[in-house]
Amino acid sequence: MAILVCGGAGYIGSHTVKELIGKYEVVVLDNLSTGFPFLLDDNVTFVEGNLGDERVLDQLFTEHQIDAVFHFAANSLVGESVVKPLMYYQNNVAATVTLLQKMVEHGVNKFIFSSTAATYGIPDRDLITEETATNPINPYGRSKLMIEQVLADAAHAYGVKYVVLRYFNAAGAHASGEIGESHDPETHLVPIVLQHLLGQRDKISVFGTDYETADGTCVRDYIHVTDLANAHILAYEGLAKGNLANEVFNLGNGAGYSVKEIIDVCEKVSGKQATVEYADRRPGDPAVLVASSEKINKVLGWKPKFKLEEIIESAWKWHSK
Ligand code: UDP
Repeated sequence: MAILVCGGAGYIGSHTVKELIGKYEVVVLDNLSTGFPFLLDDNVTFVEGNLGDERVLDQLFTEHQIDAVFHFAANSLVGESVVKPLMYYQNNVAATVTLLQKMVEHGVNKFIFSSTAATYGIPDRDLITEETATNPINPYGRSKLMIEQVLADAAHAYGVKYVVLRYFNAAGAHASGEIGESHDPETHLVPIVLQHLLGQRDKISVFGTDYETADGTCVRDYIHVTDLANAHILAYEGLAKGNLANEVFNLGNGAGYSVKEIIDVCEKVSGKQATVEYADRRPGDPAVLVASSEKINKVLGWKPKFKLEEIIESAWKWHSK
């Protein structure tokens, strides 16, 4: 039996594939719209195609004995989702519904879903638990919350067993130094700062210095991509053993760092000085997003292994190569 990883050529998907190899048979479906085929391994069966393509899915579920689906394939930029909402609803919602439909038709019932802290919107408290009200403030967050709701209905109607993982800010690179974070265009803070420190960008823009935080810049919870990857495997094993079903978990480190603090740590790790420009707020950015991951710790025994400095060190190692 294999695990189907949708979006396995992308950043978080490829790091998860690395952790799966050797433990499970892996089939990757990716359209390479943002993914990188060179991130994939020889030990993986790769199918190039779209999530919403019924023909591709029928063939895939017929040719391979799939036990579970890990679903990473999505558009994931808040700003872009505001400008192109229909693309987000098409790719993140409609295509995922097609994937679920095909799973049900082919008798595949385990689903691990990449969700996001963006489902919480502007939370009413600093430390976010899974009970914190969801009220997304952009189409990206709404598209992910819609699928969470679809999953609850599909569980009820068809016996789909799912785990929703709400990621906070994924960062860092694989210990091997072979894969890391790279988007085109890049919009994420850590790779942008490191690219600047490597001389690949003139400066860094800090989006907003008037937030209600200690230094006025946004606070986020940065979590190593390999810690995220391992949570997926624990979730799958919980589903496979029948120990859990239909759960939502936050995934973060439980500690918040401001944009300025991230720049400081990047300077320290690289030994280089950044040129920083203070810019306007970026639309759709809440001031503070920090996770309580107590629930997944209690239920699945998951604990993040990497602290901020180690996250940045692993990213620096990869970016400098
Ligand atoms: N950010 C910034 N300058 C940049 C990129 C990001 O100041 O060039 C800020 C952004 O406004 C947010 C934080 O860094 O407060 C993390 O942004 P990122 O895009 O990495 O992740 P997000 O929190 O949007 O998922």
